[in-house]
Amino acid sequence: QAKVRGRGTVHFFDADLDQQVRTHHNRRTEVREALEAGELLLYYQPKMDMRQGRIFGMEALLRWRHPKRGIVGPLDFLPIVEHTELIADIGEWVMRQALRQLDAWRREGREWMVSVNVAAYHLQRADFVERLQSILAEFPAVPPQRLELEILESSALRDLAHVRATILACQQLGVSFALDDFGTGYSSMSYLKRLPANVLKIDQGFVRNMLEDRDDLHLVNAVIGLARAFGRGVIAEGVETVAHGALLMRLGCDLAQGYGIARPMPGEAVGAWADGFVVSPEWQAAAQLPPL
Ligand code: C2E
Ligand code: MG
Ligand code: MG
Ligand code: MG
Repeated sequence: QAKVRGRGTVHFFDADLDQQVRTHHNRRTEVREALEAGELLLYYQPKMDMRQGRIFGMEALLRWRHPKRGIVGPLDFLPIVEHTELIADIGEWVMRQALRQLDAWRREGREWMVSVNVAAYHLQRADFVERLQSILAEFPAVPPQRLELEILESSALRDLAHVRATILACQQLGVSFALDDFGTGYSSMSYLKRLPANVLKIDQGFVRNMLEDRDDLHLVNAVIGLARAFGRGVIAEGVETVAHGALLMRLGCDLAQGYGIARPMPGEAVGAWADGFVVSPEWQAAAQLPPL
Protein backbone atom coordinates (compact mmCIF):
# COMPACT_ATOMS: atom_id res chain seq x y z
CA GLN A 1 0.00 0.00 0.00
CA ALA A 2 2.72 2.39 1.09
CA LYS A 3 4.74 1.45 -1.95
CA VAL A 4 1.90 2.18 -4.31
CA ARG A 5 1.28 5.50 -2.68
CA GLY A 6 5.02 6.19 -2.73
CA ARG A 7 5.27 5.39 -6.38
CA GLY A 8 2.22 7.48 -7.12
CA THR A 9 3.75 10.43 -5.31
CA VAL A 10 7.06 10.05 -7.07
CA HIS A 11 5.34 9.84 -10.41
CA PHE A 12 3.35 12.98 -9.73
CA PHE A 13 6.44 14.81 -8.46
CA ASP A 14 8.44 13.81 -11.50
CA ALA A 15 5.85 15.17 -13.88
CA ASP A 16 5.78 18.41 -11.96
CA LEU A 17 9.55 18.73 -11.90
CA ASP A 18 9.75 17.84 -15.55
CA GLN A 19 7.29 20.62 -16.32
CA GLN A 20 9.35 23.04 -14.24
CA VAL A 21 12.58 22.10 -15.96
CA ARG A 22 10.89 22.57 -19.32
CA THR A 23 9.59 25.99 -18.35
CA HIS A 24 13.05 27.06 -17.16
CA HIS A 25 14.59 25.69 -20.30
CA ASN A 26 12.06 27.50 -22.48
CA ARG A 27 12.51 30.75 -20.63
CA ARG A 28 16.30 30.55 -20.97
CA THR A 29 15.93 29.87 -24.67
CA GLU A 30 13.70 32.93 -24.96
CA VAL A 31 16.33 35.11 -23.33
CA ARG A 32 19.03 33.70 -25.63
CA GLU A 33 16.80 34.43 -28.63
CA ALA A 34 16.13 37.93 -27.34
CA LEU A 35 19.87 38.60 -27.21
CA GLU A 36 20.34 37.22 -30.71
CA ALA A 37 17.32 39.06 -32.11
CA GLY A 38 18.60 42.40 -30.80
CA GLU A 39 15.68 42.83 -28.40
CA LEU A 40 17.92 43.75 -25.45
CA LEU A 41 18.73 47.41 -24.86
CA LEU A 42 20.25 49.62 -22.19
CA TYR A 43 18.64 52.37 -20.20
CA TYR A 44 20.88 54.84 -18.40
CA GLN A 45 20.43 56.44 -15.02
CA PRO A 46 22.54 59.50 -14.09
CA LYS A 47 24.94 59.56 -11.17
CA MET A 48 25.21 63.12 -9.90
CA ASP A 49 27.92 64.94 -8.07
CA MET A 50 25.51 67.03 -6.00
CA ARG A 51 28.09 69.40 -4.55
CA GLN A 52 29.56 70.26 -7.94
CA GLY A 53 26.11 70.17 -9.49
CA ARG A 54 27.45 68.14 -12.35
CA ILE A 55 26.85 64.79 -13.95
CA PHE A 56 29.39 62.26 -12.79
CA GLY A 57 28.31 59.36 -14.95
CA MET A 58 25.59 56.98 -16.04
CA GLU A 59 24.69 53.49 -14.88
CA ALA A 60 23.68 51.14 -17.67
CA LEU A 61 20.59 49.13 -16.77
CA LEU A 62 19.45 46.27 -18.95
CA ARG A 63 15.99 46.11 -20.53
CA TRP A 64 14.25 43.72 -22.89
CA ARG A 65 11.99 45.16 -25.53
CA HIS A 66 9.65 42.21 -25.60
CA PRO A 67 7.52 41.95 -28.75
CA LYS A 68 4.37 41.26 -26.68
CA ARG A 69 5.10 42.43 -23.15
CA GLY A 70 6.77 45.78 -23.94
CA ILE A 71 9.78 46.95 -21.92
CA VAL A 72 10.71 44.27 -19.37
CA GLY A 73 13.08 44.93 -16.43
CA PRO A 74 16.14 42.78 -15.64
CA LEU A 75 14.69 41.23 -12.48
CA ASP A 76 12.10 39.51 -14.69
CA PHE A 77 14.59 37.68 -16.87
CA LEU A 78 18.16 37.82 -15.52
CA PRO A 79 17.70 35.60 -12.43
CA ILE A 80 16.80 32.64 -14.64
CA VAL A 81 20.08 32.88 -16.57
CA GLU A 82 22.44 34.29 -13.97
CA HIS A 83 24.15 30.99 -13.21
CA THR A 84 24.59 30.01 -16.85
CA GLU A 85 26.99 30.83 -19.67
CA LEU A 86 24.34 33.10 -21.10
CA ILE A 87 24.91 35.65 -18.34
CA ALA A 88 28.48 36.08 -19.57
CA ASP A 89 27.31 36.55 -23.17
CA ILE A 90 24.77 39.11 -22.01
CA GLY A 91 27.38 40.76 -19.80
CA GLU A 92 29.78 41.15 -22.71
CA TRP A 93 27.00 42.54 -24.89
CA VAL A 94 26.20 45.07 -22.16
CA MET A 95 29.86 46.12 -21.87
CA ARG A 96 30.17 46.64 -25.63
CA GLN A 97 26.94 48.53 -25.86
CA ALA A 98 27.84 50.76 -22.90
CA LEU A 99 31.30 51.48 -24.35
CA ARG A 100 29.76 52.31 -27.72
CA GLN A 101 27.41 54.76 -26.00
CA LEU A 102 30.29 56.20 -23.99
CA ASP A 103 32.21 56.77 -27.20
CA ALA A 104 29.21 58.57 -28.74
CA TRP A 105 28.87 60.80 -25.67
CA ARG A 106 32.60 61.45 -25.72
CA ARG A 107 32.30 62.71 -29.30
CA GLU A 108 29.59 65.13 -28.10
CA GLY A 109 32.02 66.38 -25.47
CA ARG A 110 30.30 64.63 -22.57
CA GLU A 111 33.07 63.31 -20.35
CA TRP A 112 31.18 60.83 -18.21
CA MET A 113 31.82 57.54 -16.48
CA VAL A 114 29.70 54.56 -17.40
CA SER A 115 28.90 51.85 -14.86
CA VAL A 116 27.95 48.33 -15.84
CA ASN A 117 26.53 45.67 -13.52
CA VAL A 118 28.45 42.42 -13.60
CA ALA A 119 27.03 39.10 -12.42
CA ALA A 120 29.13 37.04 -10.01
CA TYR A 121 29.19 34.07 -12.37
CA HIS A 122 30.53 36.24 -15.19
CA LEU A 123 33.14 37.96 -13.03
CA GLN A 124 34.42 34.62 -11.75
CA ARG A 125 35.07 33.13 -15.17
CA ALA A 126 38.73 32.34 -15.68
CA ASP A 127 38.96 34.44 -18.85
CA PHE A 128 37.16 37.53 -17.50
CA VAL A 129 40.14 39.90 -17.53
CA GLU A 130 41.37 38.77 -20.93
CA ARG A 131 37.89 39.20 -22.46
CA LEU A 132 37.42 42.61 -20.87
CA GLN A 133 40.77 43.71 -22.23
CA SER A 134 39.85 42.66 -25.74
CA ILE A 135 36.46 44.39 -25.51
CA LEU A 136 38.18 47.59 -24.36
CA ALA A 137 40.55 47.28 -27.31
CA GLU A 138 37.54 47.50 -29.66
CA PHE A 139 37.05 51.07 -28.41
CA PRO A 140 40.53 52.60 -28.60
CA ALA A 141 39.20 56.16 -28.17
CA VAL A 142 37.53 55.36 -24.84
CA PRO A 143 39.82 55.55 -21.80
CA PRO A 144 39.29 52.41 -19.65
CA GLN A 145 39.26 54.81 -16.67
CA ARG A 146 35.74 55.76 -17.80
CA LEU A 147 34.40 52.27 -17.14
CA GLU A 148 33.24 51.14 -13.72
CA LEU A 149 31.97 47.66 -12.92
CA GLU A 150 29.36 47.20 -10.19
CA ILE A 151 29.43 43.92 -8.31
CA LEU A 152 26.43 42.93 -6.29
CA GLU A 153 27.65 42.91 -2.71
CA SER A 154 25.10 40.27 -1.79
CA SER A 155 26.12 37.92 -4.60
CA ALA A 156 27.74 34.70 -3.50
CA LEU A 157 31.32 35.13 -4.59
CA ARG A 158 32.88 31.71 -4.21
CA ASP A 159 36.58 32.41 -4.09
CA LEU A 160 37.40 35.84 -2.68
CA ALA A 161 41.12 35.45 -3.36
CA HIS A 162 40.37 34.86 -7.03
CA VAL A 163 37.89 37.75 -7.21
CA ARG A 164 40.42 39.99 -5.50
CA ALA A 165 43.04 39.10 -8.10
CA THR A 166 40.51 39.73 -10.90
CA ILE A 167 39.67 43.16 -9.49
CA LEU A 168 43.35 44.08 -9.18
CA ALA A 169 44.03 42.96 -12.76
CA CYS A 170 41.09 45.01 -14.09
CA GLN A 171 42.25 48.01 -12.09
CA GLN A 172 45.64 47.62 -13.78
CA LEU A 173 43.76 48.16 -17.06
CA GLY A 174 42.22 51.31 -15.59
CA VAL A 175 38.74 49.92 -14.86
CA SER A 176 37.28 50.62 -11.42
CA PHE A 177 34.84 48.73 -9.20
CA ALA A 178 31.89 49.47 -6.95
CA LEU A 179 30.26 47.18 -4.41
CA ASP A 180 26.57 47.50 -5.30
CA ASP A 181 23.76 47.33 -2.72
CA PHE A 182 26.41 47.60 -0.03
CA GLY A 183 25.23 46.53 3.41
CA THR A 184 22.59 44.03 2.27
CA GLY A 185 24.74 40.90 2.17
CA TYR A 186 25.85 38.91 5.15
CA SER A 187 29.48 39.31 4.09
CA SER A 188 29.63 43.11 3.74
CA MET A 189 32.51 43.50 6.16
CA SER A 190 34.65 40.72 4.74
CA TYR A 191 34.00 41.95 1.20
CA LEU A 192 35.00 45.44 2.29
CA LYS A 193 38.16 44.12 3.84
CA ARG A 194 39.14 41.63 1.16
CA LEU A 195 37.95 43.21 -2.09
CA PRO A 196 39.77 46.38 -3.20
CA ALA A 197 36.64 47.98 -4.70
CA ASN A 198 37.01 51.71 -5.34
CA VAL A 199 33.49 52.66 -4.30
CA LEU A 200 30.77 51.54 -1.87
CA LYS A 201 27.26 51.97 -3.19
CA ILE A 202 24.86 52.39 -0.28
CA ASP A 203 21.83 50.20 -0.81
CA GLN A 204 18.65 52.01 -1.73
CA GLY A 205 16.76 50.17 1.00
CA PHE A 206 18.67 52.18 3.64
CA VAL A 207 18.57 55.45 1.73
CA ARG A 208 14.85 55.41 0.96
CA ASN A 209 13.72 55.54 4.59
CA MET A 210 16.60 57.53 6.07
CA LEU A 211 14.46 60.65 6.56
CA GLU A 212 11.90 58.79 8.73
CA ASP A 213 13.85 55.89 10.18
CA ARG A 214 16.74 56.72 12.53
CA ASP A 215 18.17 53.21 12.25
CA ASP A 216 18.46 53.59 8.48
CA LEU A 217 20.02 57.00 8.95
CA HIS A 218 22.62 55.45 11.28
CA LEU A 219 23.35 52.75 8.73
CA VAL A 220 23.78 55.26 5.91
CA ASN A 221 26.03 57.34 8.10
CA ALA A 222 28.04 54.28 9.13
CA VAL A 223 28.63 53.20 5.52
CA ILE A 224 29.80 56.74 4.66
CA GLY A 225 32.17 56.52 7.64
CA LEU A 226 33.42 53.09 6.58
CA ALA A 227 34.08 54.33 3.06
CA ARG A 228 36.05 57.25 4.41
CA ALA A 229 38.04 55.10 6.87
CA PHE A 230 38.93 52.61 4.15
CA GLY A 231 39.73 55.29 1.59
CA ARG A 232 36.92 54.28 -0.76
CA GLY A 233 34.47 56.47 -2.60
CA VAL A 234 30.79 56.36 -1.71
CA ILE A 235 27.56 56.83 -3.65
CA ALA A 236 23.95 56.59 -2.51
CA GLU A 237 21.32 54.91 -4.67
CA GLY A 238 17.55 55.23 -4.31
CA VAL A 239 17.69 58.99 -3.77
CA GLU A 240 14.00 59.60 -4.32
CA THR A 241 13.69 63.26 -3.31
CA VAL A 242 15.80 66.40 -3.30
CA ALA A 243 15.64 66.32 0.52
CA HIS A 244 17.37 62.91 0.53
CA GLY A 245 20.11 64.40 -1.60
CA ALA A 246 20.53 67.43 0.63
CA LEU A 247 20.85 65.30 3.78
CA LEU A 248 23.35 62.96 2.09
CA MET A 249 25.54 65.91 1.13
CA ARG A 250 25.58 67.08 4.72
CA LEU A 251 26.56 63.56 5.81
CA GLY A 252 29.51 63.69 3.43
CA CYS A 253 28.13 61.70 0.50
CA ASP A 254 28.22 63.88 -2.61
CA LEU A 255 27.43 61.29 -5.26
CA ALA A 256 23.84 60.24 -5.67
CA GLN A 257 21.54 58.37 -7.98
CA GLY A 258 17.79 57.93 -7.85
CA TYR A 259 14.33 58.79 -9.09
CA GLY A 260 14.62 62.16 -7.29
CA ILE A 261 17.29 63.09 -9.85
CA ALA A 262 16.23 61.05 -12.86
CA ARG A 263 14.70 57.73 -13.73
CA PRO A 264 16.58 55.36 -16.01
CA MET A 265 16.01 56.44 -19.63
CA PRO A 266 16.91 55.26 -23.13
CA GLY A 267 20.36 56.31 -24.36
CA GLU A 268 18.84 58.65 -26.97
CA ALA A 269 17.06 60.61 -24.22
CA VAL A 270 20.13 61.25 -22.08
CA GLY A 271 21.60 64.17 -24.03
CA ALA A 272 18.43 66.26 -23.86
CA TRP A 273 18.02 65.42 -20.17
CA ALA A 274 21.60 66.48 -19.43
CA ASP A 275 21.24 69.72 -21.40
CA GLY A 276 18.10 70.62 -19.46
CA PHE A 277 19.40 69.68 -16.02
CA VAL A 278 19.40 72.42 -13.38
CA VAL A 279 20.81 72.04 -9.87
CA SER A 280 18.08 72.27 -7.25
CA PRO A 281 18.24 75.31 -4.92
CA GLU A 282 17.92 72.88 -2.00
CA TRP A 283 21.24 71.27 -2.95
CA GLN A 284 22.87 74.65 -3.41
CA ALA A 285 21.71 75.60 0.07
CA ALA A 286 22.89 72.29 1.56
CA ALA A 287 26.32 72.80 0.01
CA GLN A 288 26.69 75.99 2.08
CA LEU A 289 25.76 74.32 5.38
CA PRO A 290 28.35 72.78 7.71
CA PRO A 291 28.64 69.00 7.54
CA LEU A 292 26.63 67.00 10.09
P1 C2E B 1 20.99 47.88 -9.19
O1 C2E B 1 22.25 47.77 -9.97
O2 C2E B 1 21.10 48.03 -7.73
O3 C2E B 1 20.20 49.06 -9.88
C1 C2E B 1 19.30 49.90 -9.20
C2 C2E B 1 17.87 49.53 -9.49
O4 C2E B 1 17.02 50.40 -8.74
C3 C2E B 1 17.46 49.73 -10.94
O5 C2E B 1 16.41 48.79 -11.20
C4 C2E B 1 16.90 51.14 -10.94
O6 C2E B 1 15.97 51.38 -11.98
C5 C2E B 1 16.22 51.20 -9.60
N1 C2E B 1 16.21 52.54 -9.04
C6 C2E B 1 17.03 53.57 -9.29
N2 C2E B 1 16.72 54.65 -8.56
C7 C2E B 1 15.66 54.30 -7.81
C8 C2E B 1 14.86 55.01 -6.85
O7 C2E B 1 15.07 56.18 -6.52
N3 C2E B 1 13.84 54.31 -6.27
C9 C2E B 1 13.58 53.00 -6.59
N4 C2E B 1 12.55 52.42 -5.99
N5 C2E B 1 14.31 52.32 -7.49
C10 C2E B 1 15.33 52.96 -8.09
P2 C2E B 1 16.45 47.85 -12.48
O8 C2E B 1 16.89 48.62 -13.69
O9 C2E B 1 15.15 47.12 -12.53
O10 C2E B 1 17.61 46.83 -12.16
C11 C2E B 1 17.50 45.91 -11.11
C12 C2E B 1 18.77 45.15 -10.89
O11 C2E B 1 19.07 44.31 -12.00
C13 C2E B 1 20.00 46.06 -10.76
O12 C2E B 1 20.07 46.58 -9.45
C14 C2E B 1 21.11 45.09 -11.09
O13 C2E B 1 21.48 44.33 -9.95
C15 C2E B 1 20.47 44.19 -12.10
N6 C2E B 1 20.90 44.58 -13.45
C16 C2E B 1 20.48 45.61 -14.20
N7 C2E B 1 21.14 45.66 -15.38
C17 C2E B 1 22.01 44.62 -15.37
C18 C2E B 1 22.99 44.12 -16.29
O14 C2E B 1 23.23 44.67 -17.38
N8 C2E B 1 23.69 43.00 -15.92
C19 C2E B 1 23.48 42.39 -14.71
N9 C2E B 1 24.20 41.28 -14.41
N10 C2E B 1 22.58 42.83 -13.82
C20 C2E B 1 21.85 43.93 -14.14
MG1 MG C 1 24.02 48.65 -10.00
MG1 MG D 1 22.10 48.78 -6.36
MG1 MG E 1 19.81 46.41 -6.44
